[in-house]
Amino acid sequence: MSIQPNVSNLKPPVIWMPKSIEKVIELKHQFGSNASFVSGATLLQLQWQNGHILPHHLLSLENIPTLKEMKMDVEKKHVSIGSMVTLAQCRFEPLFKKSLPILFEAVKTIAAPAVRNRATIGGNIMGGVGDLIPLLITLNAKLVISENRTIKTIELYEWVQRKEEFNQPLLIEILIPYEEMDGLSSVFYKKIGRRETFTAAIITVSGKIKWDPNGKIYNANLAIGGGDNNPALLQKTMGELIGKSMEDIDWKKVYASLLSEILPTEDVFVSGKYRKKAAANIIVAELQNSVGIYGTREEQVHEI
Ligand SMILES: Cc1cc2nc3c(=O)[nH]c(=O)nc-3n(C[C@H](O)[C@H](O)[C@H](O)COP(=O)(O)OP(=O)(O)OC[C@H]3O[C@@H](n4cnc5c(N)ncnc54)[C@H](O)[C@@H]3O)c2cc1C
Repeated sequence: MSIQPNVSNLKPPVIWMPKSIEKVIELKHQFGSNASFVSGATLLQLQWQNGHILPHHLLSLENIPTLKEMKMDVEKKHVSIGSMVTLAQCRFEPLFKKSLPILFEAVKTIAAPAVRNRATIGGNIMGGVGDLIPLLITLNAKLVISENRTIKTIELYEWVQRKEEFNQPLLIEILIPYEEMDGLSSVFYKKIGRRETFTAAIITVSGKIKWDPNGKIYNANLAIGGGDNNPALLQKTMGELIGKSMEDIDWKKVYASLLSEILPTEDVFVSGKYRKKAAANIIVAELQNSVGIYGTREEQVHEI
């Protein structure tokens, strides 16, 4: 049920369309919490329809060309994506197809094409519940933000954990390390929804595994999020995998660990228990698929 806003409180907001990052930072400093950044407005529009109060000042990022840039830094080995890059661009930009094919795939699962033409990667992250967040966490993405007129770079996962402590920063760009996805690393992303497409996530899972040449896992990142679920790294389960080769992994223990540390939300349609089991099953299946190159896949622990 949508809550109708109190019409007597509705004063049209002032819309600002600055042309530079410096100007938008200045405006934010001037208006403080009376101003909100607006990228594609697809999430904001939903929130306003549900009764969220419109701020007095809307700072549109639409006219700032530098926020729409995508670059590959070969020396630093990262891709930098401006916060105003749309989800549609992530899907069609050849740079992503080549260097970050998983991002290219993941974006397909978000909303419908018309929404993706407006929706931005920055809005997906700063809205706090976007489906891309778990994937970007597993890829060790960093955020370049401006807070109180100071520009800094922080880990996305640090932002997710500490965002209440920040003073409404501007997200400028996202830095994603890239590497050759050879036989020694594997990455996955799955959005679990009530339908296959055009649906909100029940839960979204992602993972990245790296092996040494002897087939031992030396790095494992597993994350969940999507829908109303708080994005989280699954550190206990990651500990169950690191240092092990395929034969050493106790899949029942991995599954139990996932069930213990996935803490999803629940609503009238889908219970927390269902979300937890669905996520654990998908993660085990994806892990077994990815580690399968180093051994057999005899043991499967799937139950919902
Ligand atoms: C029909 C429909 C279906 C959708 N389906 C999905 C889905 O499947 N998965 C999903 O993840 N999302 C979905 N969404 C939500 C939304 O479209 C996406 O999350 C989108 O990426 C948000 O980007 P935006 O540019 O529209 O953000 P906006 O609505 O402009 O902003 C979202 C929030 O981020 C803040 N913000 C935006 N840019 C910045 C910045 N540069 N710096 C600081 N703060 C900023 C805004 O102030 C606001 O709080 C859907 C929306 C609609 C309308």
